Amino acid sequence: MYAFTFERPATTRAATDLAKAGARALAGGQTLLASMKLRLASAETLVDLGGIAELTGIRREGDALVIGAMTRHADVAASHDVSGAIPALADLAGHIGDRQVRAMGTLGGSVANNDPAACYPSAVLALGATVITTQREIAADDFFQGLFATALGEGELITAIRFPVPRRAAYMKFRQPASRFALIGVFVAQMKDGGVRVAVTGGGNGVFRHAGLEQALGNSFTPEAAASVKIDASQLSGDLHASAAYRANLISVQTQRAVAKILDR
Ligand SMILES: Cc1cc2nc3c(=O)[nH]c(=O)nc-3n(C[C@H](O)[C@H](O)[C@H](O)COP(=O)(O)OP(=O)(O)OC[C@H]3O[C@@H](n4cnc5c(N)ncnc54)[C@H](O)[C@@H]3O)c2cc1C
Repeated sequence: MYAFTFERPATTRAATDLAKAGARALAGGQTLLASMKLRLASAETLVDLGGIAELTGIRREGDALVIGAMTRHADVAASHDVSGAIPALADLAGHIGDRQVRAMGTLGGSVANNDPAACYPSAVLALGATVITTQREIAADDFFQGLFATALGEGELITAIRFPVPRRAAYMKFRQPASRFALIGVFVAQMKDGGVRVAVTGGGNGVFRHAGLEQALGNSFTPEAAASVKIDASQLSGDLHASAAYRANLISVQTQRAVAKILDR
């Protein structure tokens, strides 16, 4: 690890000033510190967001849940507000990594990092959430921009994410057994207006919506409708863990399972 300066401000304003001056945000360090130790990432200054109380917490705001960027996965998993409003989100958070990762990892860190196999981005995208930053609000459809890439600008910090409460939703992860990231994860959400959004993680260069599945499930919200959709493997990645064809099959199977779970079949 290269030497760096460590800052721990108490306000978002002070953190923003540091970030604008070039400091790198540190959330739970679950990705960033490991990358720095391997010298895959370096920062002259780290700004630890862990001392900023206003970045943590979960609150109901009308027909949405607003979750602070520094809220840990374990707190989302244990929250009655989350399990009451969006049980699929609590379930997702409760199956991220292991106990340590859930105790330290954060919503903001996961979404800002945008790992192509991470779970949270699929929930953010499928629920049509809004990413709230120190500068603006960004719709999920505009936020994720490919492998580890997002719409965040230099010095821009995520402060919270606003999740609309859907009519019903489920997340089905087929986990990579060593890392517990998603080999394929599918988040299916039927929104209050009846529209269906389906987001897939683990399949390629980043989370994406699947138009064919959304259309089929919009017409008939059944596992059979999901099964009738052919998944194109040519757009998916293949590696030592799974071929593209295997991942394509998993997208179909996990979507069917998510719908069956929602329908309690
Ligand atoms: C062993 C292991 C297993 C895991 N399994 C899973 C899994 O099953 N599913 C899953 O989804 N994830 C998994 N993760 C990832 C984990 O959930 C963390 O959320 C992720 O590693 C990011 O960590 P962090 O929140 O501590 O952020 P950090 O590592 O501190 O930061 C990550 C990146 O985000 C930036 N950042 C952090 N906060 C902000 C902010 N508020 N605004 C702007 N930029 C910010 C940082 O500068 C850095 O670039 C796993 C991680 C590990 C180590």
